[in-house]
Amino acid sequence: MLVTLNEVLKKAHSEKYAVGQFNINGLSWIHAILIAAEKEKAPVIIGASDRMIDFLGGFQTITSMVKNLITEYSITIPVVLHLDHGTTVARCKQAIDAGFTSVMFDGSKYPIAENIRLTKDVTDYAHAHGVDVEAEVGTVGGNEDGLIGNINYADLEECVMLTKETGIDALAAALGSVHGNYQGEPVLGFREMAAIQDAIQIPLVLHGASGIPPHQIKRAITLGHAKINVNTECNKSWLTAIRQALTENPDTHEPQVILEPGRKAITATVQAKIQEFGSTGKA
Ligand SMILES: [Zn+2]
Repeated sequence: MLVTLNEVLKKAHSEKYAVGQFNINGLSWIHAILIAAEKEKAPVIIGASDRMIDFLGGFQTITSMVKNLITEYSITIPVVLHLDHGTTVARCKQAIDAGFTSVMFDGSKYPIAENIRLTKDVTDYAHAHGVDVEAEVGTVGGNEDGLIGNINYADLEECVMLTKETGIDALAAALGSVHGNYQGEPVLGFREMAAIQDAIQIPLVLHGASGIPPHQIKRAITLGHAKINVNTECNKSWLTAIRQALTENPDTHEPQVILEPGRKAITATVQAKIQEFGSTGKA
């Protein structure tokens, strides 16, 4: 069943585990994520990045695909349908109107006053419609959503201001993580993380978790991260499986022969992440 972000994050935050957000890049991802979370009896967040919405057929298509698969597969775990990196207030409202149960407004590229003003717009609309909101302060490194950025640490005062003035439900405070591939071992700002969590008290969100070693993930969860976003690792295991299927079946033109291993590989990756985040059995 579709639930809001708070319905899964509040418990995770207080019990110190994290709910995985797994991004979708096609129907196979939705199948794989739902099956994996159901197997693990874990709550799950399906993330659709703003830049992928049109590619996936639009907000309405995504909502109905997710809802229909939940019914067809008799999925019993709580599922959050989340807009990842919403680029404008209008896009967030569109997602809410189409039945998404959670939205991220990413105003991190704006000066803080503007980020707060726009985030509040989204939050007011979302809360009036029973939908929860994630916002971002600081900059996650790497390349996602067309934003190529260097790492820019979230400022404590800005995190406090934005949280207080907007009433958001979760905050992505960028502290050294990167979208896509890391060069060398990631270095997260745990000292800053502890200070921010202590000051704002709401669940933190870790973007760019693919490639962060388990001991750092665990520490981030201990310091208030209740939502962890994974995309790259699922896509890499999908690609490896599809390459292998093509190599092993050079003469096939049967889509299922090629695509099914990709789906299974995503399922395995999602299950491993859920176990790592400690959300197995928490549905
Ligand atoms: Zn992100």
